[in-house]
Amino acid sequence: MRVIVFGGGVVGVTGAYYLACEGHEVTLVEKQRQLSQDATSGNAGLIAPGHSYSWASPAAPRMLLQSLGGKATAIRVKPSLDPELIRWGIRFLRECPRPRAERNTVVKLRLCRYSRELLRQLVRDEGVDYGHSTEGVLYLYRDAEELELAYMKSELLRKHGEDQQVIDADACVEREPALQRVKDKIAGAVLGREDFSGDSELFTNGLAERCRELGVEFKLGTAVHRLEAEDDRVTGAVCDGGVLRADAYVLSLGCDSPAISRTVGQRLPIYPAKGYSATFPIDDGQEPPVCGGVDEATLVAWANFGDRLRMSSTAEFAGHSRSWSERDFANILRMARELLPNAADYSRGAFRACLRPMTPGGPPIIGRGRHRNLIYNTGHGHMGWTMACGSSKIAADLIAGRRPEIDITGMEVP
Ligand SMILES: Cc1cc2nc3c(=O)[nH]c(=O)nc-3n(C[C@H](O)[C@H](O)[C@H](O)COP(=O)(O)OP(=O)(O)OC[C@H]3O[C@@H](n4cnc5c(N)ncnc54)[C@H](O)[C@@H]3O)c2cc1C
Repeated sequence: MRVIVFGGGVVGVTGAYYLACEGHEVTLVEKQRQLSQDATSGNAGLIAPGHSYSWASPAAPRMLLQSLGGKATAIRVKPSLDPELIRWGIRFLRECPRPRAERNTVVKLRLCRYSRELLRQLVRDEGVDYGHSTEGVLYLYRDAEELELAYMKSELLRKHGEDQQVIDADACVEREPALQRVKDKIAGAVLGREDFSGDSELFTNGLAERCRELGVEFKLGTAVHRLEAEDDRVTGAVCDGGVLRADAYVLSLGCDSPAISRTVGQRLPIYPAKGYSATFPIDDGQEPPVCGGVDEATLVAWANFGDRLRMSSTAEFAGHSRSWSERDFANILRMARELLPNAADYSRGAFRACLRPMTPGGPPIIGRGRHRNLIYNTGHGHMGWTMACGSSKIAADLIAGRRPEIDITGMEVP
């Protein structure tokens, strides 16, 4: 079968890989001249089913109100009359009551756990190097009461098989020597023993090499502008350079997926959540962390990519702009100097902002809408690196007419 995959981020490239492994003739269309230049290149690098909690939670409405009142919260909204944001925001609020939040968390967790296993398998099979660490991920708390609450909250994940342990400050330092000097500032952590971290940009480019060997054609510097459809089938894609046709199409355009799906009448509830991402060189003599982590007080996440330390934070609902100023990184730099003071050279940071493709409830959208030969594999929000292998394998199963290996209820096209 001829299949076109739209989007050259981690989701599009893993999609192309699983399709090519099945013997399909695959073309990947990416508007940038290089792959993985968007969310894939700026994320925190955590493969973290242990952080599957839905953002739409009972605590979220209060945080959003505080943000609208000007407080510097981890999730922020820029007041705006953008109808897309208003529609999305109403759906987000509907997902906040506890039963819905828990259901969404469990749906995400199921996909994340499946995906983590597939990623391990893929790396074993293909030997893709991605600067990874397998030492677990620390969800770090400075306050003992909050740590206890976090462990209670993690019962939902533990009930569904995730290995989460609570460890005190001594055990944190044993696991993560980079925290030795600041031991008195932390209460302890929830340790996600099976979680790990790595550079999704490096992974995506490494996997793309393998895809080329499998015959995938990469059309870089080629934007898709709209799809064409007749009845219940997509018949072509209007791209730079002309119309491309195939038997099946997979849409993995991150935050731009709704703009293209709309051209064949399919609305997708995906809105960008801007995050800030900083990368610092690690020099000889420094003490970089060995595990990935999240400082739950500031929601700054970090991962060691070998020669670089990645840190990211903040979710800002402010449209499609990727603009940033120095001020946006104050939170990251403060946390870095407080908790990991000698981990990297903080005077030589590379800064950027990028967009998480968020659905209101959190689970991505995987499956068919009104067109039989168009598969959506998009809307992975804050966990697309973790979910990419799982969701792309599911997309390949659906194209092959096979039942996916996990239950995909809760990820359907709305
Ligand atoms: C600050 C931050 C921290 C994060 N941390 C983590 C983390 O620790 N762990 C985790 O699992 N996830 C994390 N994420 C989320 C993760 O990065 C994303 O969910 C994931 O990268 C989404 O991948 P994607 O391929 O769907 O989208 P993208 O990487 O955005 O790729 C979409 C691609 O589509 C292309 N495209 C768009 N429009 C067109 C068009 N018209 N024609 C052709 N091509 C087009 C774009 O150029 C881009 O290459 C984080 C995200 C951010 C922003």
